[in-house]
Amino acid sequence: MSIGPALRYHWNVNLLGRAGLRWVRWQAERRVKRGAHGKSHILTPPLKISARTKELIGRHYLKGRYANLRGKVAWVTSGAPIEFLKALDFYLLYPENHGAVCGTTRTAVDICAQAENAGYSRDICSYARTDLGTMLSCQTPVGKLPKPDLLLTCTNICQTVLHWYRVLAHHFDVPLILIDTPFVYTETTDHSVAYVKRQLEEAIPIAEEVAGQSLDERKLKEVTRLSKLASELWLELLGRCRHRPAPISVFDQFIQMAPIVEMRGDNFTVDFYAAMLKEVDERIAQVIGAVKNERKRLLWDNLPVWYRLRYLAEFLGRHGVVIAASTYTNAWAELTPKMDPERPLESMARTYMYPILNRGTGDKLATMRQMIDDYRLDGVILHSDRSCKPYSVGQMDQRDRLIRDFGVPALLLEADHNDSRSFSKEQVANRLDAFIEMLEV
Ligand code: SF4
Repeated sequence: MSIGPALRYHWNVNLLGRAGLRWVRWQAERRVKRGAHGKSHILTPPLKISARTKELIGRHYLKGRYANLRGKVAWVTSGAPIEFLKALDFYLLYPENHGAVCGTTRTAVDICAQAENAGYSRDICSYARTDLGTMLSCQTPVGKLPKPDLLLTCTNICQTVLHWYRVLAHHFDVPLILIDTPFVYTETTDHSVAYVKRQLEEAIPIAEEVAGQSLDERKLKEVTRLSKLASELWLELLGRCRHRPAPISVFDQFIQMAPIVEMRGDNFTVDFYAAMLKEVDERIAQVIGAVKNERKRLLWDNLPVWYRLRYLAEFLGRHGVVIAASTYTNAWAELTPKMDPERPLESMARTYMYPILNRGTGDKLATMRQMIDDYRLDGVILHSDRSCKPYSVGQMDQRDRLIRDFGVPALLLEADHNDSRSFSKEQVANRLDAFIEMLEV
């Protein structure tokens, strides 16, 4: 890196930016200490560590803003095997996470409109539309996204990403690596692990060429070790919600999951989740629940409704309902045992074939059934997500089977993860009211 860009990066990210974000965090922590976040008789205030979460996310996007000055950038899908890119010092941008930021800041619809005006249908995933809208207009609530030098996509979550990333590759004129993962019906086979591993082996020289350096095996093992450590802590954190009352709700988990998705493989992510676990354990020791008057406990299926997190948390909390677990946040925890830092490529192949969206719907139902038992849950809300078809497919059958075969009350709730035009407040309120009434019987 030449001296001018290096100095600009250092000044903006490590000096000015770091100090600014630290100041914001310090003020937020002071507000928490003073109890200035307002007293709610429904919900316990967010975890104290939330100020640090915001700082981490802010720093991630700040680094991204200047990343093209410092080195190479890869845009990657959320479930992609990223460890080899991390070991090659790529800055990693996750368009889906950026989409979630647009969702929570309620800027997604305006940005999606940019893609729709260019001819992309509203039936396409709203993360993809958000990202393509940003690509076309540079609109983003985080200031600026870095241009990619490389794209990595993996079919373990859906086929949409394949078409979406082809558009990105064409627009930015950069190489696209595609990792194809065979569908897992019950268990992964050695043959399919070898197939994915071979693709990773073929991807490495492409990434090395873009990065301008060779992959260091020791560094890859270290990144895999850190990914595993962070995932283990995330698994433990989620497991703490087996307690009654649940110390954090799924709405807290949705906010706190950003680092495990986009910062796994970093040592500060491990420290961050260790600190969070400590705070959650303090809550458990003091019998503090996320919902102050917890009476009923539910499971959430599918992606969050990013632009209505607070509304849903308060609506349910008012009735003493906590959502204590979700198949979505669990997706970044349940893969943990498969990671093996000593055999990084093989374990990467095995691990990344296993996300919930790459498994049969029967397997997903079995996971839900197990979670209902483990977390002692009273019912399930299945978010029927208009523009995430792979997660929503089979939900009607899953709801029917939960009710009929297992005697577990279940509700199908129609919305969309990022497009608030598909959310009807009145309809959602009516359906939730009726469901809660049924739970009380
Ligand atoms: S369609 Fe669903 S799984 Fe695919 S990128 Fe969109 S939200 Fe993710």
